[in-house]
Amino acid sequence: MERILNQKKYFVFFIGGTTLVITYLHYSTLPAIRDLHNIFGELYYLPLLVAALVFGLKGAVSTFIIITILYAPFVFINWTGTYLSITSKLLHALFSGSFAIVAGILVDREKRRLEQTERERYLAGLGRAAAAIAHDLKNPIISILGFSRRILERKGDIDAASQAVLDSAQDMQDIVHDVLDFAKPVSLDSPKADIFSVIRKVCRSCEAKALDEGIVLKTGLPDETVSCRVDQLHMERALVNLINNAIEASRKGGMVVVSAEAGENRFVIKIKDYGEGMDNETLENVFIPFYTKKISGTGLGMAIAKKIIEAHQGSIQINSREHSGTEVIIKLPLKTS
Ligand code: ADP
Ligand code: MG
Repeated sequence: MERILNQKKYFVFFIGGTTLVITYLHYSTLPAIRDLHNIFGELYYLPLLVAALVFGLKGAVSTFIIITILYAPFVFINWTGTYLSITSKLLHALFSGSFAIVAGILVDREKRRLEQTERERYLAGLGRAAAAIAHDLKNPIISILGFSRRILERKGDIDAASQAVLDSAQDMQDIVHDVLDFAKPVSLDSPKADIFSVIRKVCRSCEAKALDEGIVLKTGLPDETVSCRVDQLHMERALVNLINNAIEASRKGGMVVVSAEAGENRFVIKIKDYGEGMDNETLENVFIPFYTKKISGTGLGMAIAKKIIEAHQGSIQINSREHSGTEVIIKLPLKTS
């Protein structure tokens, strides 16, 4: 908002400046260089057009009034009294006034149309997000209700039912965390940390899941320390999302390799799997919030990871082939100071 206001300030200077320069040239070329004088008179359309484009009808009309006031003395200096000359001046004023009004009205109408489209898109997005969250929460809620009833009625295996309630509550907590992570702006707390140990910690925390799914999680990290400014918690969250996706995409017995290396001024992390890969549709939509192809996915993991990496001024790139696997490459600037 502040940036837009600042830019508008420059446009006010531009419109005021060009109007004054044109007025000066318009007066100073009279009567010696009449053709130039007429050309400068026509140039008044430029500030009028800019005012209409930037400020709409109000701006165009105000600029027209200022130009008319500046132009008026010229009419009297150059007064010939002939009917033709008065008509020509009046027509000129009428045309430029109509131009200002029509351009202003058109610009205002276009702005209103864009605002309306933007509002509709925002509401549609909000609706889609709400539907996606409600859909994700529905399954664990149904299972909590079902199993709690069984526990109350003391039917079946009470321990298994209690575990199912706990698992479903955990799923709900994960969903709520994902949604909060996505909705919150990323504010970085970036003291210096050894980026390799951040990655090692993440890999350790993902090992249990890999083991559960029969996947080998390999790390290819050099035995060195690279201390740089990263928000540890956020970076861990981004990497966990990406490694979990790689594990989930792999076939039983498959392998996920996490590697990293520090260059001169950037740091590259690669997460490679040999799993199902992505088709073109998935590749195009993978960073769109709530896009998921999994039955119980939130579709927020990739969007959150991208948001966190970009907040570190980094980039995330995906190389993937359907049925052959995926490699996610993260590049981070090495800010060591
Ligand atoms: P979720 O994991 O909840 O589905 P994500 O945002 O993490 O949401 O991922 C979105 C989609 O991108 C996944 O449903 C999956 O189809 C695809 N995807 C992400 N990572 C991979 C990967 N390594 N291999 C294949 N597909 C992937
Ligand atoms: Mg995911």
